[in-house]
Amino acid sequence: MTPPSAPAPAAPVAVTARCAGCGACLLTCPVHAIRPSGGALLVLARTCTGCLECVEVCPVDAIEETTAPSRRAAPPAAAPPLTAPAPRAARAGKPTEEEP
Ligand code: SF4
Ligand code: SF4
Repeated sequence: MTPPSAPAPAAPVAVTARCAGCGACLLTCPVHAIRPSGGALLVLARTCTGCLECVEVCPVDAIEETTAPSRRAAPPAAAPPLTAPAPRAARAGKPTEEEP
């Protein structure tokens, strides 16, 4: 007996019924993740990086973001606040003149 298969992962974007079939998204997708399928357009979840270029190029706003996580690079973490450098002796692990 084979175990039940896991549900197919969702892509970060999906083509909705508003699609007018212009083909702009097909030509724009840098990884060719949008494919015709049964008269509609299918976004390949394993290929789509979530770059959203297709969303921006669609003239009728037919491509929507889904709740699937994007694989775009996370934004860089905020830099720590700047602080004054420690005295040279303290950085070297040596006692300072103020210490007994
Ligand atoms: S760009 Fe928009 S209207 Fe054109 S094929 Fe893609 S989803 Fe359809
Ligand atoms: S989000 Fe980017 S990678 Fe995914 S289908 Fe649209 S253009 Fe292609």
